[in-house]
Amino acid sequence: MSKNIPLPDPQEMEELAELLAERFVVRWDWYGRQYKDRYQAFHEPLTRDLLIDHLAGKITLGTYVLDAQNRGRYMVFDADDEPNMRRLMAMSEVLAQMGCPTYREDSRRGGHLWFFFGEPLSGRNIRVFGQGVLNVFNIGEIELFPKQDALKSGPGSMIRLPFGVHRRSGRRYGFYRPDGEPLADTLRQQIRLLAIPATVPPRIIDFYAAHAERPVEPLPVDPNFEHAPVENGEFSSDLDRLKHEIRLRDYARPYVQVNRRGMGLCPFHHDTVPSFHLNDDINAWYCFAGCGGGSIIDFYIVLQQRLYGRSLDFRTALHELREELL
Ligand SMILES: [Zn+2]
Repeated sequence: MSKNIPLPDPQEMEELAELLAERFVVRWDWYGRQYKDRYQAFHEPLTRDLLIDHLAGKITLGTYVLDAQNRGRYMVFDADDEPNMRRLMAMSEVLAQMGCPTYREDSRRGGHLWFFFGEPLSGRNIRVFGQGVLNVFNIGEIELFPKQDALKSGPGSMIRLPFGVHRRSGRRYGFYRPDGEPLADTLRQQIRLLAIPATVPPRIIDFYAAHAERPVEPLPVDPNFEHAPVENGEFSSDLDRLKHEIRLRDYARPYVQVNRRGMGLCPFHHDTVPSFHLNDDINAWYCFAGCGGGSIIDFYIVLQQRLYGRSLDFRTALHELREELL
């Protein structure tokens, strides 16, 4: 997108500013403004005139990503160089296959990958989800916005409000779909499309959140990840050994072939697109078509049920797997 695009008429500019704010602004009592080398924070009302000046390229605004109740409506991965941006783009393709929409926004060097939520989420839950995504795809060195679980003092982290002219490069950057095509040809079309973005489905949020090192704040959890309570030490150590000493990839090999990224045709349903996801790092699996997911024990339970018609409870499955593998 060039800086010198013909600007919409004033009435449309107002409408576009409102749509932009509706999607990206969660905090109206603080905003940031970009100068050549830095952002300055203003503890002042963010007005419609400022938003219009931003779209017109006269000024460039930053927007805070959490509201005063620590809630946000999107998550942004910020890649500050080309290699990391390429990693994010590869990730967004896989996510798209899994039914998780993302939007890429170019920047001066790398770029941003945006995830939009249908309902506001707490900063903590956004970050647990984001850390789970980065864990599954094994991508480090990526900045995750919001940067705070909850605000302490001040308004927290800020990100450039989309569609502004970068004060250093003088360019205006637009959005792209996971397949690399521009979201739309013009600024006005892009803003209109982002007003009704595809949002991350709750099942995707639950799945990746379960791959973070810490739990989300209490929320309904996918029942496939609920395990029977573990009471005695022997039981617990067998469970640990099965989960950590047996490679799920090896155990699952007779049933499913996964590619480099851990995707394969699910052995548990009639699968035509690779719905089965195996993560070596955490020794876990998940079927995006609804067959379930979890550890090797969950794999064994679903395997016995779908292939042999046997319904096993968790304890029986653990016992049988221990006999077979340990
Ligand atoms: Zn499946």
